[in-house]
Amino acid sequence: MQKGTISVQTENIFPIIKQFLYSDQEIFLRELVSNAVDATTKLKALARRGEVEGDIGDTTIDILIDSDKGTLTIRDQGIGMTEEEVQKYLNQVAFSSAEEFLAKYKDDAGIIGHFGLGFYSAFMVADKVEVVTKSYQKDAEAVVWTCEGNPEYTIEGADKADRGTDIILYISEDSKEYLEENRIEELLQKYCKFLPVPIRFGTKEEKITEGEGEDAEEKTITVDNVINNPEPLWKKTPTDLTDEDYRSFYSELYPYSMQRPMFWIHLNIDFPFNLTGVLYFPQVSSGMEMQKNKIQLYSNQVYVTDNVSDIVPEFLTLLHGVIDSPDIPLNVSRSYLQSDSNVKKITGYITKKVAEKLNDLYKEDRQAYEGKWKDLGVFVKYGMITEDKFYDRAQKFALLENTDGAFYTLEEYKDKVKEAQTDKHDRVVYIYTHDADAHHAQVAAAKEKGYDVLVMNHVIDNHFMQQLEQKEGKVTFVRVDSDTVDKLVQKDEEAESVLSEDQQNAVKSIFEGVLGEKSGASVELRPLSPQDQPVMITKPEFMRRMQEMQAMQGMDMGTMPDMYNLVVNSNHELIAQDLLSRDDDEGKKQIADYLYKVALLNQGMLKGAQLTEFVNRSLSFLKK
Ligand code: ADP
Repeated sequence: MQKGTISVQTENIFPIIKQFLYSDQEIFLRELVSNAVDATTKLKALARRGEVEGDIGDTTIDILIDSDKGTLTIRDQGIGMTEEEVQKYLNQVAFSSAEEFLAKYKDDAGIIGHFGLGFYSAFMVADKVEVVTKSYQKDAEAVVWTCEGNPEYTIEGADKADRGTDIILYISEDSKEYLEENRIEELLQKYCKFLPVPIRFGTKEEKITEGEGEDAEEKTITVDNVINNPEPLWKKTPTDLTDEDYRSFYSELYPYSMQRPMFWIHLNIDFPFNLTGVLYFPQVSSGMEMQKNKIQLYSNQVYVTDNVSDIVPEFLTLLHGVIDSPDIPLNVSRSYLQSDSNVKKITGYITKKVAEKLNDLYKEDRQAYEGKWKDLGVFVKYGMITEDKFYDRAQKFALLENTDGAFYTLEEYKDKVKEAQTDKHDRVVYIYTHDADAHHAQVAAAKEKGYDVLVMNHVIDNHFMQQLEQKEGKVTFVRVDSDTVDKLVQKDEEAESVLSEDQQNAVKSIFEGVLGEKSGASVELRPLSPQDQPVMITKPEFMRRMQEMQAMQGMDMGTMPDMYNLVVNSNHELIAQDLLSRDDDEGKKQIADYLYKVALLNQGMLKGAQLTEFVNRSLSFLKK
């Protein structure tokens, strides 16, 4: 037997390893299984080159729990190690890489996936580790390396007939959970699901049907519990795959999801960086699941994290699926990641791919694309708001929908409305409603004038409209009930009022009397068409947007008065004749008040006691 001391630079590394990111202790299993996979992959590579004698046989990796002994074993049938290699790799390479890693990151909890701690992560959960190993090399002797979580180790000859390595962890008192079958199964499912070498965790029962028709019999059989799919879909060639393959892989990734993806993008690039993966577009309308199925990041099929917010642009985190890239630096802090040039390129590449896919869908079948716009729109708009590059690409396939349910690209829409809806400042005015039912009267009035009205009814639309105004230049949005809509076409001469100035002043003061001192509202007389409504309520576009923004940011709107204008159409019969011809002040006031309430009602602003009073008054007219 040989004894030795691991050359310790850090005072004592073991207590630090033990404490390191306590909450993420579980990664030890990924690190050890990854090593087992590497050892197996290396063996296969040597075999391909004819450097291994005989058939390499089965290379399945086994995970074994022995609760009596209190051990967890990771067993591979890979290249194994000779005694010299154990000395070199475990006492020097593994140790110094762990030491380096800890020295750099022990105060930084934000490292992506905590990759790189390697073999020594075993000491996060074990008091004692034994490595029993036998090299693939001819006549190699098996050895066992033992270390009890201090700088001393021993190496001696061992009894091991087969090639490969057993890493035996004597699980410590406070890590007993790693002797529980369920916990290990859970971890293997999380970290090892797509590793490239089969990983077996005991056996499981499976139901099968034997025979056919009447003779059919259900049987329960015992089979190997193989954890992983060593050839995940994203590693395959897209042309070999069917839609069904992509759908069933989605269920493999998210076994508890009830969703079906709308479509997907297969990522595959090896220059200037290596990246594979599949991104799925979910049906966004079922908002519940939107966040649950996160994009998973892998490095050579080893699960790293499902927190990819530093690697993909934020709007793409709405997507689901897998990204696998060995070129994403993993043992760095998150803040470093964003400035990494590879990560920037990767971000750009994914954004471009997503834009290309959307553009293809749009070009291939515009009608189908329009049908999906309800789901896609949120995503595209979000991307246009947050990523300049995406905005430029999305010019081609971003759509606007109007109240007739027709869809237009940005360019098409501008062409459609610019003639009728350009204001005196030469800006094209886009008129919209967030609720076509509530704005029924206003939408009808706008259409009557030859205007078009867009539907902008998603929370994201406020931001989206602002972004369009900024980016498109000379485009402005106004809501259909805004004060500017009916003044839009200033080029036309406004009609003459049929009322004299004195009469106009009289009408104005009647309505002002009705409104009282109510702050925020003002009366404006306008010589509109006799066919227009007699009295309308309009709101300053600017004020309304401010309020909406505040509401979105969760600010209290209570302090802001509801500002609006009461627009009185001085050319309407009810104003020009009925109102003015009354000779009693009380009668005039009643008519004005009634018209005012009708205008409020039209805007959905008549509520509570006012509404009840209005209904009762209307009913009383019938009695007369
Ligand atoms: P890394 O895997 O990043 O090199 P580790 O600390 O995980 O660092 O391992 C150090 C070295 O120990 C590996 O490079 C490998 O040579 C050797 N090693 C670890 N586990 C095994 C194993 N199961 N079979 C063969 N060699 C191994």
